[in-house]
Amino acid sequence: MPAVFFGHGNPMNAVENNAFTAGWSTIATSFPQPAAIVSISAHWYVPFTAVTAVDAPRTIHDFGGFPRRLHEVQYPAKGSREIAEQVCSLLSPEVVQMDASWGLDHGTWSVLVHAYPQADIPVVQLSIDKTRDASWHYATAKQLRPLREQGVLVMGSGNIVHNLHTYAWGNRAAGPYAWALRFENTARALLERQEFGPLVDYESLGRDAQLSAPTPDHYLPLLYVLAQCEDGDKVRFPVEGFDGGSVSMLAVQLG
Ligand code: ZN
Repeated sequence: MPAVFFGHGNPMNAVENNAFTAGWSTIATSFPQPAAIVSISAHWYVPFTAVTAVDAPRTIHDFGGFPRRLHEVQYPAKGSREIAEQVCSLLSPEVVQMDASWGLDHGTWSVLVHAYPQADIPVVQLSIDKTRDASWHYATAKQLRPLREQGVLVMGSGNIVHNLHTYAWGNRAAGPYAWALRFENTARALLERQEFGPLVDYESLGRDAQLSAPTPDHYLPLLYVLAQCEDGDKVRFPVEGFDGGSVSMLAVQLG
């Protein structure tokens, strides 16, 4: 099973059909249906590590100021306590809370409504512990590698470039800022060479990186996907482009 990082961008993608969402559908048809999905979303960024351990995770509308039709979206995928427990044991000795309060946030469902509209694959979310640094996330995520072999899709959902201070609300077709494009190009070159060290140590990549990932939440899911890389994996970019000038919609597929 491949591992995929999705650039989810604007929540409205959930209810739109555009080049990005068409790309997400195509990604899903490019490999066999996963047995389950473990999603690491930018929007579950909390001071602890937890997995959703419920039979029916709720659809969380974790945003405000969007049209009612977005708030009405439901993604009724089942959860999987079995996969949650396995994630817990794979990450041992790290302490992972079995969580019954979160569910699926829009980082997960805004993509999955396009990739797997039937919602017939169990989905478990793994939180991002905001008290840990990037190298901890990358190293810890490597412990999830056995999931791929059993047909579980590890997906990260965030954005390699995500700066909402400079985002062109109301002009989503705005071209990318020079710093955004430079950082994405730097990241793409490193990804193509599978040179992940500088991407883990992204804060040392200078001002372009600071502007592109001003907070770690949307960037760190990428590291969870890179950590799944095995010898022989190819790196592909099945979705490309920018939204509003400062959000990169780049998707990264391994394997
Ligand atoms: Zn987001």
